Amino acid sequence: MLKTVPVSSNRKTGPIAVTYRSGQCSTYGTCPKSCQLHPAPDTGASEIDPDYLAAVLAAVPRGGVAWTYTHFPAESVPVSKPGETVLNVSCDTMDAAVNVWSAGRPAVVAAPAGTEWAGGVEYKGVRFVQCPAELSESFTCAQCGNGRPLCARRDRDYVIVFVAHGPMAGKVGRDTAGGCYASSGPTAIQWHKTRTAGAANDAAELGRFARSLPPGSMLRHHVAGDIGRE
Ligand code: SF4
Repeated sequence: MLKTVPVSSNRKTGPIAVTYRSGQCSTYGTCPKSCQLHPAPDTGASEIDPDYLAAVLAAVPRGGVAWTYTHFPAESVPVSKPGETVLNVSCDTMDAAVNVWSAGRPAVVAAPAGTEWAGGVEYKGVRFVQCPAELSESFTCAQCGNGRPLCARRDRDYVIVFVAHGPMAGKVGRDTAGGCYASSGPTAIQWHKTRTAGAANDAAELGRFARSLPPGSMLRHHVAGDIGRE
């Protein structure tokens, strides 16, 4: 199920185009069972949805940029080509992020709450940079990178860090399941609505949506949700 939003009111993304994706039976149905942040892994996906993945890679607004994140294992997802949506691999540890980055894939990592990252750090020869929208309440993806948001840069020479926040943040970086930032608050409300009111043919709806956006638009795919098949 896919919900499309031409101009988001999300505090962090700013006024760009976004989507939410859920399963039909479970809101978390498109997220991989293997995701450590998944609060109910049994309801997650075992495999990637190839039709939706192809639609995501192709869904870039004319003259614009598109990006997203996946918690599926890095080796199971393609490396985005120039002109495609940039598919960031979400990692749970800095070591995993180093491995993903070293294999030529754009990587992001979730850091435990309270970690101090301002200014960035170097770890095992790789630079780690915190998302600038976490460092200022008034900064959003719409302003990031002067029109080329950091997460939409496929060849960047650094890993982007997201420090855990929200009510479930205490679970990030632990061995217990859970910690997903979208499990509460306004994002959760939007996401849960997707399951009942979103478009059932998500691949077709995504293509239509991307084509409808003004030239030069920014599109962040699934603020919540992933590329799995429920
Ligand atoms: S690094 Fe930039 S593009 Fe990525 S989430 Fe943060 S503000 Fe948005």
